[in-house]
Amino acid sequence: MPRARSASTPSSSSPRGTGELALIERIRQRAASASRSAGAVRLGIGDDCAILAPPRGYEIVVTTDMSLEGRHFRRDWHSARAVGHRALARGLSDLAAMGARPLAAFLSLALPQTVAADPRWLDDFLDGLLGLAALCKVPLAGGDTAESPSDHVLADIVLLGAAPVGKALRRSGAKLGDRLFLTGALGGAAAELASLAASNTRATNTRENDAPGKSRYARRVDTAEHPHLYPQPRLAVGQSLLRRGMATACIDVSDGLSTDLAHLCAASDVAAEIEVAKLPLHPLARALGAEAALHAALHGGEDYELLFTASADALVPRTIAGVAVTCIGKIVRAKRDHPAITLIEADGRRTPLEPQGWEHLR
Ligand SMILES: [Mg+2]
Repeated sequence: MPRARSASTPSSSSPRGTGELALIERIRQRAASASRSAGAVRLGIGDDCAILAPPRGYEIVVTTDMSLEGRHFRRDWHSARAVGHRALARGLSDLAAMGARPLAAFLSLALPQTVAADPRWLDDFLDGLLGLAALCKVPLAGGDTAESPSDHVLADIVLLGAAPVGKALRRSGAKLGDRLFLTGALGGAAAELASLAASNTRATNTRENDAPGKSRYARRVDTAEHPHLYPQPRLAVGQSLLRRGMATACIDVSDGLSTDLAHLCAASDVAAEIEVAKLPLHPLARALGAEAALHAALHGGEDYELLFTASADALVPRTIAGVAVTCIGKIVRAKRDHPAITLIEADGRRTPLEPQGWEHLR
């Protein structure tokens, strides 16, 4: 983290300037005021490395997520605030899937010169990122900046979390007869992305970013209405599952149910049956009509819900940490040369489901 050190180096650049040091200083100031209670972070931005002190009896879990303009977001569709929020949410969702609690985030940011020249984009990006960080009590403890040689923004986030030794939830523990559960609802992110693509959002985003005064994050829209722009990582659910010893396996649905359930099945060497009628569909997905809603739920991706298994006799509540939990199917024996997932329609018809994966922006 050599650049973190340079943040503390006196420089003639003003924080309002556009140089790399000015960018770092801007991030450092915002991060410092956002994370006074830094928890495990003994030393944050300002030296060659950050120093973390994980809680006794815990082990460190690490995840990294790249948000690349043109692949994961578009500046003409996504406000800087949404880009910042989503960049952090992706990694936090991975921690949630392990049942881990977040310790610290590290941000590496490459900005095109044209973006770096206007501090509003970075300010709004930090509003989104640090706003979610504050909600989830994860300090930004370091990172790096560079000028992007292309016209694309790149935000790479590393997240460190902690889980009790040997207890982190994994994809590999599902057993025959386990029931399959899902938090929240599916298809909302894909539905909102489709509407972003269909509408002229450039004007909307410009208005949002240009709106004057008060904290932009305080005006954060209701996330239930904006599952694509402002997904809520299910950290409290994951930690509760770990604490209760309830989940035999867990994964977050970032790439779509068909893909992520296939990952869980492969890791556990099992297969799964989904009852279509039980799938919780997000209202935005329902509005697309039945067929499109089901497609969004199965393949849409970016819903950042948790998919977990629990033994058939486990008493899984209908809500955990305020989030609805729905039983959507069960774990069955894997058959050679058969797709891992079978859909069961309301009339009992059985259809094999091939993973289709999340489609990047095209
Ligand atoms: Mg994941």
